[in-house]
Amino acid sequence: MAKLFSLENLTLAAIVLGILFGYLLPDLALSLQFIGQIYLALLKMLIIPIVVASIYIAITGLTGADELKSIGIKAFAYYFTTTALAVSLGLVVFNIFDPGSGATIQVDNLATPHQQLPEAKELSFATFLLSFIPTNIFAALSQGAILPIIFFTILFAIASIYIEASKKQLLYNFFDAINDAMMVLAKWIIALTPIGVFFLIAATIGKSGLEPLFALSGYALTVLVALAIHGGIVLPAIAYFVGHFNPYRYFTQIKEAPLIAFSTASSSATLPVSIEVAETKGGVDKRVAGFVLPLGATINMDGTALYESIAVMFIANLAGVDLTLSQQIIIFLTATFASIGAAGIPGAGLIMMTLILDSVGLPNEYIALIIAVDRFLDMFRTAINVWGDLLGAKIVDQLLRRHP
Ligand code: ASP
Repeated sequence: MAKLFSLENLTLAAIVLGILFGYLLPDLALSLQFIGQIYLALLKMLIIPIVVASIYIAITGLTGADELKSIGIKAFAYYFTTTALAVSLGLVVFNIFDPGSGATIQVDNLATPHQQLPEAKELSFATFLLSFIPTNIFAALSQGAILPIIFFTILFAIASIYIEASKKQLLYNFFDAINDAMMVLAKWIIALTPIGVFFLIAATIGKSGLEPLFALSGYALTVLVALAIHGGIVLPAIAYFVGHFNPYRYFTQIKEAPLIAFSTASSSATLPVSIEVAETKGGVDKRVAGFVLPLGATINMDGTALYESIAVMFIANLAGVDLTLSQQIIIFLTATFASIGAAGIPGAGLIMMTLILDSVGLPNEYIALIIAVDRFLDMFRTAINVWGDLLGAKIVDQLLRRHP
């Protein structure tokens, strides 16, 4: 009985009921949206302290530079391999389903005026590198600029390894205490998940209804099938063959996190939950989870990478443009790059689309065509982003246990 009313089952029920509520009573769902937003704001409130404290204690808790190097290399190898696989899978599934064939739409016919389109920041390689370095760490903290904060925290933690032992212990205890307190807070907020999720989903459905899903069903289905193959087969296969554990059993232990990712469409907002379930239910070492998950939530987005590659191919088809092999290679590279640069917030992937369209010379206006289903797809791709991070944490954990 207790299991029936577990947080996971209640969350699942809240998703289903939220869809129904949003569809049947859209106005009421929209006016009650603030309840979901309160839940989201509470989760977001924890992001910066958790990222700083968990990365700090993860690094300083390691026995030395060798262990850090070992975790770092494994984590980055995993991030890169799985992102590359996701983009490739997106391209392959697109070519099989071919959802855009036959239909050509000219830019001039698009109803959406240019001003309404999202804009990506100018992102040259130099600005990309520079964007990692916070010239003012307090400004970065107050703006929630997550990559610079991570960059600073990693350097700060490494530097602390070299200071006097008693001072090192002091700093460690300080951040460890912050981390523990944040985890207690996270548990309280996580208990509110079914309520928050119900109102978030209801408002999403209330806003757009279910119709856009049918209008762009070929494209949406292609993305969903590719996401399902990646999350259900490719990633679990890596977990099984490289990490030597049963990924499906692991999923049942940590499923709360992908469910929350699905409902919030934000990897960053899900981070407190990901860390908590990985450690307490998934059996991942605190130091590994504290390092791999915050970094992963920011730079490892398989679902987003996969979606980017399919969306740009779909848009090229609608524009009547045949992409050459070299253009497809550019898409491969920019989709990887864009998924690393995308923030873990709703709609970030769509904003990064402009970057990829620019790289192959397609007009940004075409984004208007896929906006209608973007929020739906965002929920699924974010769930895969978070699932990918959690599998990564477990794989690195398992590898370290076998070859420390
Ligand atoms: N919403 C996604 C995330 O937070 C990013 C995206 O828009 O693809 O992981």
